Amino acid sequence: KRPKPINLLNDQIKNQESLKKANISTVVHWFRTDLRLEDNTALFHAVQQLKVAQKNNTNAQLVALYTINEHDFRAHLDSGWKLTFAFNAVENLRKALSKMNVALVVRLFESKKPLLSRSNEYADWFKSQCLSLANGSALVTANAQYETDELYRDLEIYKKQDDKFHFQVYHDQCTVEPGVLTTGKGSQYTVFTPWYKKWVEHLKAHKDGKDIVKMLNIDIEKTVNQKLEQFESCDYTLPDEFVSYLPTTELQLPEASEQQAHKVLDDFFKKGKAFDYNNKKDVLALDNTSHLSCYITSGLISTRMVVNRGFHENGDSLMRKDIKQNNSVENFAKEVAWRDFYKHVMCNWPYTSMEIAFKFDTVDIKWENDVEKFRKWCLGETGLPIVDAVMRKLLFCGYISNRCRMIVASFLSKNLLVDWRWGERWFRKHLMDADLASNSGGWGFCSSTGVDAQPYFRIFNMKLQCEKYDPKGAFVKEWVPELKGVQDLKILREGTSNDRTADGYAMPIVDLKESREKALEAFREAM
Ligand code: FAD
Repeated sequence: KRPKPINLLNDQIKNQESLKKANISTVVHWFRTDLRLEDNTALFHAVQQLKVAQKNNTNAQLVALYTINEHDFRAHLDSGWKLTFAFNAVENLRKALSKMNVALVVRLFESKKPLLSRSNEYADWFKSQCLSLANGSALVTANAQYETDELYRDLEIYKKQDDKFHFQVYHDQCTVEPGVLTTGKGSQYTVFTPWYKKWVEHLKAHKDGKDIVKMLNIDIEKTVNQKLEQFESCDYTLPDEFVSYLPTTELQLPEASEQQAHKVLDDFFKKGKAFDYNNKKDVLALDNTSHLSCYITSGLISTRMVVNRGFHENGDSLMRKDIKQNNSVENFAKEVAWRDFYKHVMCNWPYTSMEIAFKFDTVDIKWENDVEKFRKWCLGETGLPIVDAVMRKLLFCGYISNRCRMIVASFLSKNLLVDWRWGERWFRKHLMDADLASNSGGWGFCSSTGVDAQPYFRIFNMKLQCEKYDPKGAFVKEWVPELKGVQDLKILREGTSNDRTADGYAMPIVDLKESREKALEAFREAM
């Protein structure tokens, strides 16, 4: 019965006092998961507020702030890939801002405990950091983050406002902000398809999405009249202890910059992948999807821009009646919409961000939770070639496609009967694009415990998945070198029935038929 944190945040947003007359000496934009300059709602408002402040005080300045929470490192909840990618993005952002004489300051919140248990302390610390950057009073702008801990953190910060410290949050993370698309009864949809229709209608009402993309012309250079030298050194290096948490693999991470995010989007359309999305997105060896997820998760590009590009390339429309139903660009935009859907769900049912299944009745499922089988799944040693190939790729690249994610999530939660939360955590620890809402949404979907999930009796048939999405075994051979010389498609699809451990590849740890029956039984009993 407690009010939802998103509603409390919206109340605060509504009440955000008009600061037009306030005497602000410094506007601080707090970069969080919005590491970009273009189409950034809160940053746009920061610059507008700076212009107003300059009317009263010609020395009013703009400072950018990025904060690191020590617990994020200690808890190992986020992957080293993701943290490294974000730091690289911050470094590139710092360079871009310094060209405009805006300092980007990085501050570390030292805490060995989770944020939720320390949100009051965090808010005090945060306020003092902002005031230390300001030459008087500070106005802080930030874009909303919808995870429950982060919502409560922001609510605590609102409470610290006084004459010298003002805080303003804006909706920015989604293409359509949470709470806008509701059923006739005014509640959040639990089924994607009708929600998606509303999503499209909403965009159409905004000139097919063009109004949604704010294309904010922030004009920072013209507005800022400060000198960068007046700020303390902005270079920041992570404490050595933290560096050890980051991956040491020699594989290069994608370039983490706003320009690169735009290039990746551009290439996706220019090189034709977007127009072939339907046919090829699931072909495992091709990797024909956009690879935008790490850029979207870190906020190097907004999904508004991504969707708008789709509109543009699709003849300025989405869901056109005059083009055939199965339109690739539309289906791509639909995938991007899933991200919004899961964020909306998380806002409305905050427990879904706390490792609690959306469907309560699934709490009675008797998971087997065999630790050894789970370990083998994690390391790609199950003896099921397709599963092992995907899991090894995940460890090596920090990225796998949606089809890959579905295959291994179905295998873990159904064939191995391991609690989906174990897999969800493993993904979060290893994905470069780890995102709480999409990850728990995806796991909920595959394990039939989540919102609008697939029915429990839908258990991926690994042989069929191989036939359809890796017909010649090229993907398997790429990631399971032990099978490189194998010609027999049956072995490449189902593993081997002989003990081939001597060759370095083991027999499957479960029989697919038997484990399927067992899973059906366990789900039937619980639901
Ligand atoms: P594209 O196919 O090119 O799609 C474009 C964008 O749309 C993606 O970048 C992403 O932002 C969004 N998107 C696409 N599919 C989905 C989807 N099913 N759900 C939500 N958003 C989607 N996505 C994450 O960003 N972070 C996660 O932690 C994450 N965990 C997942 C876990 C499981 C078990 C499953 C089944 C899916 C998960 N997804 C997650 C969704 C999806 O797999 C990835 O977004 C996608 O594979 C990223 O590759 P891409 O950018 O090339 O996608």
